[in-house]
Parts: sequence; structure tokens; C-alpha cells
Amino acid sequence: MDFRLTEEQELIRANIREFCQQYLDPIAVEIDENSRHPQEVFDRLAEMGFMGMPYPQEYGGAGTDFLTYAMVVEEISRSCAGTGFTFSCHTGLGTGPIYEYGTEEQKQKYLVPLCKGQKWGAFALTEPGAGTDVNAATTVAVADGDEWVINGTKTFISQGTFADIFIVFARTDPAAGPKGISAFIVTKDNPGLKVGEHFRKMGIRCSQTAEIILKDCRVPRSDMLGKEGNGLRMAMASLDNGRIGIAAQAVGILQAALDESLKYASQRIQFNKPIGRQQAIQWMIADMATDLAAARHLTYHAATLKDQGLPYTKEASMAKLFASEAAMRHASKAVQIHGGYGYMKGQKVERLLRDAKITEIYEGTSEAQRMVIAGNVMR
Ligand SMILES: Cc1cc2nc3c(=O)[nH]c(=O)nc-3n(C[C@H](O)[C@H](O)[C@H](O)COP(=O)(O)OP(=O)(O)OC[C@H]3O[C@@H](n4cnc5c(N)ncnc54)[C@H](O)[C@@H]3O)c2cc1C
Repeated sequence: MDFRLTEEQELIRANIREFCQQYLDPIAVEIDENSRHPQEVFDRLAEMGFMGMPYPQEYGGAGTDFLTYAMVVEEISRSCAGTGFTFSCHTGLGTGPIYEYGTEEQKQKYLVPLCKGQKWGAFALTEPGAGTDVNAATTVAVADGDEWVINGTKTFISQGTFADIFIVFARTDPAAGPKGISAFIVTKDNPGLKVGEHFRKMGIRCSQTAEIILKDCRVPRSDMLGKEGNGLRMAMASLDNGRIGIAAQAVGILQAALDESLKYASQRIQFNKPIGRQQAIQWMIADMATDLAAARHLTYHAATLKDQGLPYTKEASMAKLFASEAAMRHASKAVQIHGGYGYMKGQKVERLLRDAKITEIYEGTSEAQRMVIAGNVMR
């Protein structure tokens, strides 16, 4: 498959790269150190029409293809993986389900401001007792007149501290197992929704992660998303989509690891010559460049399948699995190439190593991706 980008895609890549160099690189260390959400960067991205980029213009999106969107996630993550993740989690998991499954009324009310970057979206599936095993969820929704009443706790919810619109998954039929879970749109001003613990993290520290507590949270029946009992199926399909975003985030980390390693290997002199003249360093760089190319191909392939309307579940899992494990491996090698300096705070490679780890965990761990891939190839 040929992934030569079109002129328009190249232009968008150049624009977002320039944007990141101007607005994100200068603050990347500070937002990591202070765990600060860089709203000012997102305000600019919204002005540029990026926040809902893969959705149609009639809903406030930019109407780009998914490959272009993945490339933008990659470029933002190359500068700051936390910002890249917030962008992809809002645009993918926080917005996508409303576009895919929402009624026209829900789209006008919720999707349009999400795509325009006027409101933030979040996806609330995980619970303290239900991570990989999503079907162990105990959050319940009980019908009461024209409303549903939701009770339960969601954990590790990205954008949880500031999101305006949450897609919440809750059990509407306890006897129906996986077919008894439904999805709801819950807004932050709902008195039944409270933000609990704000988590402090190893990496992607500018992304905000929180617990969400739903206590007698009443939502109108019109805010059920999709069909009753279809929640888990919708969640899994949304995660397929989201995994391309995480793969792209990992590709951005890999590219940054290579950028930094090339720079340092040519500058650092030991034994009267740049360390990059040593074969041991060249081999690390060769492996890094090869895995970067493979990860990018897998990611762009999955995105292209989605753009073509073809099945892409297995390919999205393969891309996420390979790219995230390669990002972790080579972020560590990038620190190695930087020696003791790479271990110091403020060095980009130190941040890359901390940021890379999460790509092996969220939106399905590496083990979960292997289950999906095996399930698809061993049919
Ligand atoms: C920073 C961050 C942001 C997140 N954002 C969101 C969000 O926005 N929305 C949301 O809903 N969730 C979010 N999550 C949750 C995330 O998707 C889960 O953490 C992840 O799916 C794993 O679940 P768990 O942490 O409960 O681990 P567990 O499921 O408890 O897994 C623990 C270990 O056991 C392994 N394991 C579990 N079951 C099996 C099995 N059957 N076979 C082999 N190995 C297995 C896992 O792979 C892992 O290694 C986020 C998590 C983090 C850390």
C-alpha cells in the first residue's frame, strides 16, 4: 500500500508542525511539570478548525479523512504526547460516538459544539472493578418516568476535570449481561454528576484524569445514545477508532525519540568524535528508524481502511500494539543514547519515556490488543 500523502495532507502536516513548534514546544516542559491543561493551545486549534476535523462541516467539523486526522495526532504528540492524547481522546472517544450513533437532535445539541471546540467531550466506560473486563461494570441506570437514573463510579476518565459532555455507559438490564449495557449523554451541569479524585500520573501529565461519581444522576430519555442494550457494542467500535489515535500518538513519540537521538548523536563528543560515529549508537538508531516506519505504516493502513469503509478492528489493534511497544522500547533507547543527561528532568527523552508507557495501557492494554488480534486471526 502506498502512503504518499496528497498535497493537501502535506500542507496540513506542515501547518500543524509549524503550529506545534511555535505554540507547543515552548511550553511542553512547563505543562508536564505543572500537570497543566494547555487550554490556550486548544483555543488556537479550535480557531484553526482542528477540534472536530474528521467530522462533516455541517456539524462544525473540517470534513477531513481519518488518515489526515491521525497524522495531526502524530504531529501534536511529537511535540507533546499529553496534548496529542487530549486532542485525540476528545475528537475520537469524546465526540465520535455522538456522530456515529446520535439522533439528529443530539448531533445539533452536542456534536456541533464538540466539533467546534466550544465544549469538551469525555468517554466514561472504565470503573474501579471493570477495566479490561468491561462487562464487569456495575454502574446502573434505572428508568423512572421520562428519565433514567444513573448510579455508579467511573474511574481514570480523561478530560474528567473539565469536560462538558460525558458519554456514560451503564447497565440498563442486569440480567442481559453484555447486551444489558447502554450509553447516555450526561452534561457537567447535571447535579448528579460529581468529579471525584484527580489522578497524578507518571506521564502525559498535562492530560487531566479523574474519577466521575454518578449519584441519582437523572438524564432525560432523549439523552440515551443509540439503542438500549447496544452500549458495549458501541463502546468497542468507538475503541477501534480510538486505537488508531493512540497508535498515532505512539508514532509521534517514536518520531520525537528519533529526532532527539539524531541530534544528540551528532553533537555529543566522546573519544574525540561524535558518539553517532560509533556502530553501537548507529544500530540503535537504525532499529528506531525501522520500527518507526513499520509503526507508521500499520497506523496509516488502519486509518486508510477506515476511510475506505472497510473493517479495521484487527488492523487498529495491530497498529496500537506495535506502535506502543516500539515507542516504549525506543524511548528507552533514546535515553540510553543521551547517557546521564537523558535521565535528567527537562530533557525531552526523559519525558518521552514516561509518556510512552501509557500507550501500552489505555484504550485496551497490549494484552487486550493481542486478544483482539488472536480472536480475528484464529476464527
Ligand atoms: C491515563 C489514563 C487515561 C484513561 N482514560 C480513560 C478514559 O478516558 N475513559 C475510560 O473509560 N477509561 C480510561 N482509562 C482506563 C483504561 O482504558 C484502563 O486502565 C485499561 O483499559 C486497563 O484497565 P485496568 O487499568 O483496570 O487494568 P486491568 O484490566 O485490571 O488489567 C491489569 C493487568 O491484567 C491484564 N489482564 C486483564 N485481563 C486479562 C486477560 N483476560 N488476559 C490477559 N491479561 C489480562 C491487563 O492487560 C493488565 O496488564 C484510562 C486509563 C489511564 C491510566
